[in-house]
Amino acid sequence: MSRAPTAQLALQQQLADLDARDLLRRRRVQALPCSPATLNDGKPLLAFASNDYLGLANSPELIAAAQDAAMRWGVGSGASHLVSGHTEAHEALDQALADFVGCEAALSFSTGYLANLAVMPSLLGRGDAIFADRLNHASLIDGALLSRADLHRYAHLDMSMLASQLAASTAKRKLIVTDSVFSMDGDIAPLKQLLALAELHDAWLLVDDAHGFGVLGPQGRGALAEAELQSARLILMGTLGKAAGVAGAFVAGTRTVIDWLMQTARPYIFTTAAPPLLAATLLRALQLIEHGDRRREHLQSLIGALHTGLEGTRWQLLSSRTAIQPILIGDNMQALTVARQLEARGIQVPAIRPPSVPAGTARLRVSLSAAHSLDDVQALCTALRAIAPGQDAE
Ligand SMILES: *Cc1c(COP(=O)(O)O)cnc(C)c1O
Repeated sequence: MSRAPTAQLALQQQLADLDARDLLRRRRVQALPCSPATLNDGKPLLAFASNDYLGLANSPELIAAAQDAAMRWGVGSGASHLVSGHTEAHEALDQALADFVGCEAALSFSTGYLANLAVMPSLLGRGDAIFADRLNHASLIDGALLSRADLHRYAHLDMSMLASQLAASTAKRKLIVTDSVFSMDGDIAPLKQLLALAELHDAWLLVDDAHGFGVLGPQGRGALAEAELQSARLILMGTLGKAAGVAGAFVAGTRTVIDWLMQTARPYIFTTAAPPLLAATLLRALQLIEHGDRRREHLQSLIGALHTGLEGTRWQLLSSRTAIQPILIGDNMQALTVARQLEARGIQVPAIRPPSVPAGTARLRVSLSAAHSLDDVQALCTALRAIAPGQDAE
């Protein structure tokens, strides 16, 4: 029998070590399509664990659109976009996305992770500078590192720290990058101030609207639309596997920036184009988002019900008005324990631990969806109160 490399022994040790520190990740095997009612390793649970904020992932409208699109386009795209994989469906999607977010042009990618690996390395290189919020999504950090530009990270939402970093920089090309809605906290970046700083220091502002697109702003046009911001300095990245309920992502901005990305972005060029049936399904998803005020209003009422339902308990919701409603716990083990206690009561809320969040800030990440009912949120509040009764609990 062949011997494993010595380095593999070290991996075994490191895995055991992660387990000992309650940091080992385990996948849950889902037996049902994405919905609040899940079957998790055979056990029925009410889940608050998806990013399907508008409840579109398993909607009859999108299933029908995907079926029609499969009949029209088959399954695979067959090649990358610049070879022969770019179909009329992809072309229509890029145009519809640009129109929807009010930018000159847009380019769609297979995933948000890839989109975030694409932008910074295309626009910046050695000797340039990137200014990034410390709590930005991992894909933005990876994209920044891949660009080889100098990376300056400022404390979360700290505009004066960012301003002094920008003022001190002598880099020729500068880019500020931020999540709009922070994925583990649910709070929103001060986009107006960020754009003002970008203007003052002649920088681009790249905004990752993964959790705002479809949810925030008029007709769900996103966080920039909500803040009524438009500028040739803005580069918007949005994902299509969360509120849009399908898969993929896009980058939108000026025609020049988008043309440049198409010519140079390696995660666009060197990968097979997403199946055209997904692009066609996403066109339908965009319509559902645009006409989705009822879904967004329902989501808002769920957020309100959660806050009311946990008032006077020891459960500390972070200040978020988005679908991401984290409950701060602190200790890794304790976060896992509460998650297990909830699960024993038939409710699934993921415990989020480092490195997804800073050490000592483990939390339960409640994510709400228009697919939840008010009763679902009441059930969550009841279970949390039973685990840690507040003053007014029975
Ligand atoms: C989910 C997410 C991404 C990655 O998008 P995928 O389409 O899932 O690859 C990027 N940025 C943020 C802030 C996200 O939450």
